[in-house]
Amino acid sequence: METTPEKKGQGKGAVAIGIDLGTTYSCVAVWQNDGVEVIANDQGNRTTPSYVAFTDSERFIGDAAYNQVALNPVNSVFDAKRLIGRRFSDVSVQNDMKLWPFKVISGPGEKPMIVVNFKGVEKQFSAEEISSMVLLKMKITAEAYIGSLVKNAVVTVPAYFTDSQRQATKDAGTIAGLNVIRIINEPTAAAIAYGLNKDYASGSFVGEKNVLIFDLGGGTFDVSILTIEAGIFEVKATAGNTHLGGEDFDNRMLNYFVEEFNRKYKKDISGNSRSLRRLRTALERAKRTLSSYTQASVEVESLYEGVDFSSKISRAKFEELNLDLFLQCMEPVELCLKDAKMSKSSIHDVVIVGGSTRIPKVQQLLRDFFNGKELCKSINPDEAVAYGAAVQAAILSGNDSEKIQNIVLMDVNPLSLGIECAGQVASVVVPRNTTIPTTKRSRFTTSADYQKSAWFKVIEGERVKSTDNRLLGEFVLSGIPPALRGVAKLSATFDIDANGVLTVTGEDNATGVRNNVRITNSMGRLSKAEIERMISDAEKYKFEDELQAKRIQAMNTLENYLKTKRDFIHSIQVAIPVAARTSLEDAIGNTFRWLDGNRQAEVYEFEHKLQEIEHRWNQVFGGSGGGEYSGGLPKRQCTRP
Ligand code: AMP
Repeated sequence: METTPEKKGQGKGAVAIGIDLGTTYSCVAVWQNDGVEVIANDQGNRTTPSYVAFTDSERFIGDAAYNQVALNPVNSVFDAKRLIGRRFSDVSVQNDMKLWPFKVISGPGEKPMIVVNFKGVEKQFSAEEISSMVLLKMKITAEAYIGSLVKNAVVTVPAYFTDSQRQATKDAGTIAGLNVIRIINEPTAAAIAYGLNKDYASGSFVGEKNVLIFDLGGGTFDVSILTIEAGIFEVKATAGNTHLGGEDFDNRMLNYFVEEFNRKYKKDISGNSRSLRRLRTALERAKRTLSSYTQASVEVESLYEGVDFSSKISRAKFEELNLDLFLQCMEPVELCLKDAKMSKSSIHDVVIVGGSTRIPKVQQLLRDFFNGKELCKSINPDEAVAYGAAVQAAILSGNDSEKIQNIVLMDVNPLSLGIECAGQVASVVVPRNTTIPTTKRSRFTTSADYQKSAWFKVIEGERVKSTDNRLLGEFVLSGIPPALRGVAKLSATFDIDANGVLTVTGEDNATGVRNNVRITNSMGRLSKAEIERMISDAEKYKFEDELQAKRIQAMNTLENYLKTKRDFIHSIQVAIPVAARTSLEDAIGNTFRWLDGNRQAEVYEFEHKLQEIEHRWNQVFGGSGGGEYSGGLPKRQCTRP
């Protein structure tokens, strides 16, 4: 069962934030002053790169990690969302790995593990841990803005995320020290943002609106159709692809330019992760330019073996490289309409969100699909999801604002769930697009005479043959009294909570023997012990980060002091005894040299050096910035440094 915030003692009234944990960028927002505030990070940016980097001395998260990526590609991790809740052998993981500069290996239970070098030691992190670091950054960003600790959060996932991907995202929140009060689907969150913006959410709005949300981000693609009426947001259907987005378009461009470089210079850069990273960054920038202009230049100085790379790409070429991917985006739109039993013309608004919907060709294909209908671009594509999550967070924490009190969310499960029956037949228990939360029960029986136990394999997907679907987990129900085949009456109860997270319980109904078996550790999900270990690791890293920040502050204080004093000595008009000046200059110079050689020193060492130099200074200037120098020379007014 889901732990409610009330049970944890962080009940109604405790502030809860909304986090859009994106493949490439994340965003955090909070409900405050009767509206949503999207929170800027310490760099002033309203979205934060979902990047974590490890160096010899410290860990960077967000902009700081992104900014050093070309210098440290193998230890800079991104795309954790493409790994989370997946197995190492997944085709998508195997394909992605070819493009990542960082190393991924198969861990216990086929769990993909990211290998980095941190402080001179090889370390392995799961995707949950990397995501937890990004979540932690968003938590800290929110805390700095709100001015108090934040515990509760609503985190968004693509609507098409599977059960294990949702579970793993929740685990990431737990590791970051967050109480994830609800996981909601990204397009649903975007719909809330849109509905609120349009005043569809208030009780005063009369009528029903069918809204299609087309959400194309950095790594995932989602389509959802919702009906909004008097504040009730009911998801009718959802479809998409957990592995399609801006990064795929970047990859196409990357392959194209790697070939061009090879052709022009007879040099293959495909094995050099630093060059690839630098080219990729330049191409992503060019891609953004192509959303506004028909031509973009690509310039990378000293890209490989001293060659300065300079080229151009037209919008037409970019579209040609990606047309099949753009067309793929239309298939889920068709499927979603079919599942919702709606025609194109019954959709009132087509809303686009996600950074990649800025691509003109994507917009054109979507407009054409809806027979020329204008697309709604009124909400910020980068912030809408976090905005909606913040609204849901406010509702769940009992905020009584009139603007949101009528909002009710009715979401659906994206994929059919069932049990494998004899002959590898998939038997659906919860059809896809069933409104959640839900509990559904199906009857089963034995397939052999005197069978004492039954094997329940829980599967997810739409294929008829069970092995073509995804195995979520399995358990054995034992203690069935011996009988001929088909006599035993067994049941499987599927319970999906409001987060879309599934629990399956098996039971022998006829005898009343009830074996309460649950899927807990399926698909490489983290065990409780592993989560606990990761929480304590996260605490340790947080502590280390804080120590690091203190160290840097102490170092900066010393450096600034030295600079100010050096400048002061150079700028003073009055004469001071040569010996005193020389001695001070020497002391400052020596401390500068010490600093250059000891940038990794501890806080107390910087402080000690500061005290030493302050002492020397005070001996000459008598405890001031120099203005009240009383070494027998005339006093003069000066600004304290
Ligand atoms: P999101 O996950 O919604 O933050 O979307 C991030 C993706 O949008 C990244 O792949 C970006 O490269 C892409 N993106 C952002 N702005 C633009 C733009 N102007 N044109 C094309 N793609 C963009």
